[in-house]
Amino acid sequence: RNACPPPLPQPVKIPEIKHTKIFINNEWHTSIKGKKFPTINPATGVKICDVEEADKADVDEAVRAARAAGQRGSEWRLMDASSRGRLLHRLADLLERERAVLATLESMDTGKPFLHAFFVDLDGSIKTLRYYAGWTDKIHGKTMPVDENFVCFTKHEPVGVCGAIIPWNFPLLMFMWKIAPALACGNTVVIKPAEQTPLTALHVGAIIKEAGFPPGVVNIVPGFGPTAGAAIASHMNIDKVAFTGSTEVRKLWEKAQQNRVPQSLKKKKYKDEDTDELQSAVEETQKGAFFNQGQACTAASRIYVEEPVYDEFVRLSVERAKNIVIGDPLEPRTSHGPQIDQHQFDKILELVDSGKKEGAMLECGGCAVEDRGLFIHPTIFSDVKDHMRIAKEEIFGPVQCIMKFKTQEEVINRANSSHYGLTAAVFTRDIHRAMSVSAAMEAGTVWVNCYNALHAQAPFGGYKMSGNGREL
Ligand code: ADP
Repeated sequence: RNACPPPLPQPVKIPEIKHTKIFINNEWHTSIKGKKFPTINPATGVKICDVEEADKADVDEAVRAARAAGQRGSEWRLMDASSRGRLLHRLADLLERERAVLATLESMDTGKPFLHAFFVDLDGSIKTLRYYAGWTDKIHGKTMPVDENFVCFTKHEPVGVCGAIIPWNFPLLMFMWKIAPALACGNTVVIKPAEQTPLTALHVGAIIKEAGFPPGVVNIVPGFGPTAGAAIASHMNIDKVAFTGSTEVRKLWEKAQQNRVPQSLKKKKYKDEDTDELQSAVEETQKGAFFNQGQACTAASRIYVEEPVYDEFVRLSVERAKNIVIGDPLEPRTSHGPQIDQHQFDKILELVDSGKKEGAMLECGGCAVEDRGLFIHPTIFSDVKDHMRIAKEEIFGPVQCIMKFKTQEEVINRANSSHYGLTAAVFTRDIHRAMSVSAAMEAGTVWVNCYNALHAQAPFGGYKMSGNGREL
């Protein structure tokens, strides 16, 4: 039988945030420069707490700790591979124990609905840990039948110290995507959560220690990109960097560092007339567009619909969008919360305005929710043309652009005419269409008749500007 998810509990009342410091060597540190920064609840605009701000000197300390923890002869390097697996499983157990607390913290710090934090972010985080726990003692080398009388084999070794820089849209899940594979292979980690969302990472620091990971194996340095982030990206004692964030930041490093593994963003999706389940296509595409308030690198922001069903598709999408429950993220019925901060909020509304000006038809939404700070109504544009900014730029907000197409060849070319290519989807009953269109899509993942079906067991990453290498 499949493991059942636990019933939805109520969010936990958190009287005081316990973990707000820099985590190095399994200990809590204040910042060397003596600086702190506030983290804000985007649903209310109220400061949750101040967090110690790591800068270059703190990153140096963290890297020293990580290096020592991973050196030959250290407890971590001598540990049986199977024991590393047990530690990862223990961490997963502790995440299960802390599930409601972590989901509450995640909801407060990001504004995402508690419902989604509990069932999506926490579920994915726990599954990622368990999947990689199983890999620790199954990472094999090879033997090669070389010429002459020799025995030849390869053996996989840890890379060393892995730096990780993560964004604010899935703080805990991105944290696990980074640390779980690195730890499974015996590496040590220095990780910087996004400045908007440090709280779940720090809470996990405490349970990493409780699980029994040796000091220095995981080090957490909350802070900003140009300071702590740049220190990680350019550190001579870090052997590999994993980065998830904007293309702009990745470009900063592109020339300097060929050995790094950045990841980045964007999306496309297309639906055609064949599908019986028009309603299901409407639902899947809309979840793809609005999930996490549209703040997802996989967001289904461009949707191409075949001409004969176009009007009906738009009508059903609008009907559905109007029923989305907007409200307090900590209220379990809520499915749509605020955007992360003022900067993103302004950027989204500016793009929405450009859509109106460039002549797209606003079907619903298109504005902020009155008197509610950073909340934006789920927004649908029809009659969107490929040259419009809303069709070309990454909106990273709850905006769905619905376009019309006539032929398969045409829609493939239009979908691919983007500098990005992370994920795509095709909706059809016709298996030949599903195979030929998905093969033609320039995207790292192509879903068929579903969207955002992400799993710890499958790789993730994009074409073109959407990433180098793969995660998971
Ligand atoms: P977004 O905020 O749109 O997700 P960013 O790329 O700005 O994208 O942020 C993603 C992560 O990268 C964050 O942890 C941020 O602090 C970090 N970051 C931002 N600028 C830099 C930089 N110059 N060097 C290293 N990391 C950075």
